[in-house]
Amino acid sequence: EPFIPKIIKVNYIEGSNDQKWSSWDFPWTKKLEANNKKVFGNHSFRPNQREIINATMSGHDVFVLMPTGGGKSLTYQLPALICPGITLVISPLVSLIQDQIMHLLQANIPATFLSGNMEWTEQQEILRELNSDYCKYKLLYVTPEKVAKSDVLLRQLESLNARELLARIVIDEAHCVSQWGHDFRPDYQGLGILKQKFPNTPVLALTATATASVKEDVVQALGLVNCIIFRQSFNRPNLWFSVIPKTKKCLDDIDKFIKENHFDECGIIYCLSRMDCEKVAERLQECGHKAAFYHGSIDPAQRAFVQKQWSKDEINIICATVAFGMGINKPDVRFVIHHSLPKSIEGYHQECGRAGRDGQRSSCVLYYSYSDFIRVKHMISQGVAEQSPFTPGHNRFNVANSGRVLETNTENLLRMVSYCENDVDCRRLLQLVHFGEKFDSAHCKKTCDNCSKIKSFIEKDVTDTAKKLVELVKLTGQQFSSSHILEVFRGKHLAKSEASRILRHLVIEDFLMEEVKKSDVYGSVSSVLKVNQSKAHNLIIGRQNVVLRFPSAINSTKLSKSDVTPAKGSLMSGKLSPSRNDTPSQPQNELDLNL
Ligand code: ADP
Ligand code: MG
Ligand code: ZN
Repeated sequence: EPFIPKIIKVNYIEGSNDQKWSSWDFPWTKKLEANNKKVFGNHSFRPNQREIINATMSGHDVFVLMPTGGGKSLTYQLPALICPGITLVISPLVSLIQDQIMHLLQANIPATFLSGNMEWTEQQEILRELNSDYCKYKLLYVTPEKVAKSDVLLRQLESLNARELLARIVIDEAHCVSQWGHDFRPDYQGLGILKQKFPNTPVLALTATATASVKEDVVQALGLVNCIIFRQSFNRPNLWFSVIPKTKKCLDDIDKFIKENHFDECGIIYCLSRMDCEKVAERLQECGHKAAFYHGSIDPAQRAFVQKQWSKDEINIICATVAFGMGINKPDVRFVIHHSLPKSIEGYHQECGRAGRDGQRSSCVLYYSYSDFIRVKHMISQGVAEQSPFTPGHNRFNVANSGRVLETNTENLLRMVSYCENDVDCRRLLQLVHFGEKFDSAHCKKTCDNCSKIKSFIEKDVTDTAKKLVELVKLTGQQFSSSHILEVFRGKHLAKSEASRILRHLVIEDFLMEEVKKSDVYGSVSSVLKVNQSKAHNLIIGRQNVVLRFPSAINSTKLSKSDVTPAKGSLMSGKLSPSRNDTPSQPQNELDLNL
């Protein structure tokens, strides 16, 4: 059966710049201010919080993109408190839900949750309360599989809705809806049913991780209508990023790094496997650090014990798999070290996001080796990567092997590899591109390894290669992903990493577009490269050049003189801000690569 692609276009409204939502003249403003202070103990609102609350309380569907630790929970907990009725919150992990409910109860906000693992009598009691006319709960948390599998819950929601008591539906960690994201959960895809059943109930979708394609996918899957999007910069100025080649001496390097920069401070070391966690922790203990390991196969009591020790600073280094972190709220994490390659840039960004929540300077160090890439790739193809042992009941492992999901995961991994292998461009810029954000690398101020390298660069006119890549996309019928195009291109003229930089640049500068493709037959997603005719035309007819910067030490020997052309009149120099041209002390910032 032929694969019929369908391009999805989503309508949404940018809310971030609309002054309307910042107004203090909403009927609920006074109540909002008072409860934010009195119940939640906050002095003020953080960026976008007031705006999001006003938009959702006005009855709109709202999509929120806010970095981890930005304060997303308040944007539904506060409305839940002051609106009549009950707010339904879908959250992926039971451990996350328990953590939230504990905090809510401490603040005297009645909240509860329903999960399949609960005793039936306990569930019955909650359902009875939900049925009563004077239901005390303001928030009801459920896991997505509960929505997918429990008719009882759906009927309960219908009953609440009929009594006009269903105030709002919140989808937390909404990126889990998308197969295109790094943390796909099949049960999230079924959540579209909520908008179908309750078209008049406002939906609030929240995530710290959404690339442009994930965003479209989420809005589409949830069936959000005229949804208002709030987003803020994902740049974290207090985090310092670097990638270091991983050698056999990696553990010595880590020990030395911590002793020299963060001795006795708090940090997380992310490891690929459970065995790695244990090995790394043991080694660091031998070196005199207070380290422990944390992963899915340690028993719950031990897990709780480690978390408690960690929060009380009795241990300061946790060696963990990605299972550790969601909902972990320690403000003074001074370093996040990746002992192995993360599986996607989004995942990496989120894991790093656990450092420096207090705004103080913190380090993010990634140890990269090509052999780890092979290892992770193998794990992905076996469907054993990305385990999250706290999520019972979801069938991710069954889908992990299926063709398109595998393709997506591999694509995400390849992007992570090219991030690591890129030793030229600003790390922040490389990350932020994934959130559809433009970033001027001058603002990095040498807080990443690439920006702080004192290296000489040469500019190289890569127009010829750029043209070839665009033509290749055309020639192959505009139906392949960027990794496939690179695969085809490889070995013809250039090292793959160089072609990969050029290709990425073409996407960022809109010569090529990456579009989400959805199969009608299977409902799965992938992304394909398309040619943006109008822009690409200028390139093809030679009206526009593409110039990239390369480290001179490596490339000068390979290049003949004619390859090295000045950037005058080129695309890149055309984009320069004049002030940066005048900063001779920062030659590496002369070009904004936007890669
Ligand atoms: P997110 O879900 O975006 O990762 P959380 O909602 O868990 O973030 O909030 C992170 C931390 O910020 C929490 O400890 C929360 O109490 C705190 N916080 C949220 N909003 C405010 C505010 N307006 N003022 C002070 N602290 C806040
Ligand atoms: Mg959250
Ligand atoms: Zn930088």
